Amino acid sequence: MKISKNSVVSFHYRLWDSSAEQAVELESSYTGDASLYLHGYGNILPALEEAMLDREVGDVFSAELTAEKAYGLRRDNWEQRVPIKHLLGNKKPKMGQVVHINTDQGQKQATVIKVGLKNVDVDANHPLAGKSIQFDIEILSVREATASEIDHGHAHGPGGHQH
Ligand code: ZN
Repeated sequence: MKISKNSVVSFHYRLWDSSAEQAVELESSYTGDASLYLHGYGNILPALEEAMLDREVGDVFSAELTAEKAYGLRRDNWEQRVPIKHLLGNKKPKMGQVVHINTDQGQKQATVIKVGLKNVDVDANHPLAGKSIQFDIEILSVREATASEIDHGHAHGPGGHQH
C-alpha cells in the first residue's frame, strides 16, 4: 500500500543538521517509539510530507530540506520577553536553554538569552531556523485511517495521539 491522503504511517527517522560541514545528528526516533502520522493533514513539515507520498513499507530514503522548507530563515534581533509562568515546565530556565512557550499559535520553541526575576528574554527564532536539515526515513507500516482519525485530523496510537 502506497502512502497517500488518509494513510496512517509509522516511521523511524534520524534528523541531521546538514548545514554544518559535517552533518550533526540532532534527533533519532530509534531510541523510542516510532513516529505515527496521518498523511495529508499537515501534521509533519510540508516538505517532508511531500517526500513521503507514494512510499511503502520497507522504503528507506533521505529527504533534504532547505532552511526555507524546514524551520524558516533566521530573523535578526527577534527578541521577546516572556513571563516565566508561560514557559512549559514553568521552571526558571538557564541561559542558552531551549524552552517551549505556549502561544496563541500553539507551542513554540525559543532560546533563552537573558534571565530575569519573573521574565526571560528569548531569541524567538526556532533553534533550527536558518539550517538545512536532512531526514533519514524508514517506513515501518502504512494503513488506512479510521473514521475517527480522519475526523480528528491526526493518527491514533503509540507515537501519535493517545486520547
Ligand atoms: Zn484524535
